[in-house]
Amino acid sequence: MNHAKSTSPYIDTLSIGCGPAGLALACVFDEAFHAQGGHGMRGFLALEKASDSAWHPNLLLHSTDINHHVYRDLVTPRNPQSPYSFAMYLKEKNRLFKFGLLGRPASRFEWSDYMTWVGAKLAPYVRYEHGVQAIEPLLEDGELTSLRVKGEGFSYETRKLILSNGSTPNVPELFARHLGSHVFHASEYLQRLALLKHDMPRRWLVLGSGQSAGEVVADLIQQREDIHVTSVHRSIGFKVAQLGQFPNLVFLPERIEYFKRLDDEGRSRFFNHVKGTNYSGIDVDESQHLYSLIYEDEIAGRERLSMAVNAEALTLQQVPDGYRVTLRDVFTGEVSEHVVDAIVLGTGYRQAKIPALLEPLEEFLIKDSQGGLQVNSQYQVALRNSGNVQVYVNGLSERTHGISDGQSFSAVAYRAGVIHEALLSSVVEPVDYSI
Ligand SMILES: Cc1cc2nc3c(=O)[nH]c(=O)nc-3n(C[C@H](O)[C@H](O)[C@H](O)COP(=O)(O)OP(=O)(O)OC[C@H]3O[C@@H](n4cnc5c(N)ncnc54)[C@H](O)[C@@H]3O)c2cc1C
Repeated sequence: MNHAKSTSPYIDTLSIGCGPAGLALACVFDEAFHAQGGHGMRGFLALEKASDSAWHPNLLLHSTDINHHVYRDLVTPRNPQSPYSFAMYLKEKNRLFKFGLLGRPASRFEWSDYMTWVGAKLAPYVRYEHGVQAIEPLLEDGELTSLRVKGEGFSYETRKLILSNGSTPNVPELFARHLGSHVFHASEYLQRLALLKHDMPRRWLVLGSGQSAGEVVADLIQQREDIHVTSVHRSIGFKVAQLGQFPNLVFLPERIEYFKRLDDEGRSRFFNHVKGTNYSGIDVDESQHLYSLIYEDEIAGRERLSMAVNAEALTLQQVPDGYRVTLRDVFTGEVSEHVVDAIVLGTGYRQAKIPALLEPLEEFLIKDSQGGLQVNSQYQVALRNSGNVQVYVNGLSERTHGISDGQSFSAVAYRAGVIHEALLSSVVEPVDYSI
């Protein structure tokens, strides 16, 4: 903890992360800047560890598409007249008419390209290759007066901090100490595969039942002729995500307040009630594809994909010819053994009750009954003894605000507007953009 005066450049509003949530915020700031004539102070900066705003680049696989409507882009639900809509992107790329004839959702390649397009337009608001490593509280007489945000070779000071750094890959404990070139989370998939391409493993195990796990399985199958993938599921196998119109009304912004009003037990029950709309499910076409693959292989007398269902991983051991994994059937208790060359963890993402970056602020955090952040309807984190310092979470409030406020595009534009409005009540301080 630092009591000394800071020499770090001061930024009025600082976002950590410039993925979709951080970008959506930059859009609001830029629109407000131009609405005021386009001169003066911009007041906002996002620090992004990647070198651009590409969208989940390690899972940009062929034949994948987005599972939300293109109107739920970075801006349209908040401001359909924004210059940063998907429609404006298409217009500038001269594909507006052609896209209309596609008759399917935008591909993940196109959606990622849209993100990079917006990122490039908003370049003055972003510092790429600026991975934040720590937040340091600055104090005067025991009161929090400011925050220093640090990474390799940089540090900034701010009083308005927004965490837009996304969810954390979920790595089951059993696999954690084996992480590396041959055991990795799906979020590293393409990057790891590129390193393995000269000596591509043959026997793979993929853990998980969600969209990423399904896509990784489908992609691995075409990596080599003699590949074998064991797809491991605690459940009965790949289920189709709940795509019906009615359950998906849960993503409307007005459902956020409904969720917020529930007590802890109610939130947990409600979340379980609706989680099939966004988790542990795959698209109909993907389910069809994987099932057909197994079926056609049976006709051809070969097996590239086998399913281990109702199974949980019990032990993992590195052996001379790979990794030995034992699986236990959760109903019968029967144990099976599998020796594989590589393992992909399609085990999803998690949101900690207290984001790791906020741990240094521990003494100032006012926690809720579950020991997690208390976050109000404006996404502001409750702090004690904090003077003018404000901290917001932008995409890390699924536990308190419900399913649309976590790993989804649903609330991205709306939430950016709400946070911006909350910030408006405070005075904007100058930003030195030469830094
Ligand atoms: C493969 C895949 C497909 C998906 N498809 C859909 C879909 O079709 N529709 C949908 O609604 N949702 C989908 N999602 C959910 C996804 O979470 C959201 O679409 C969206 O990416 C959330 O945006 P975000 O900005 O909150 O988080 P992220 O996209 O995770 O972005 C966070 C950003 O913060 C940066 N960052 C992290 N830590 C730091 C740090 N310490 N310092 C600086 N920068 C940092 C990261 O590099 C990243 O750019 C998908 C998720 C995955 C993994």
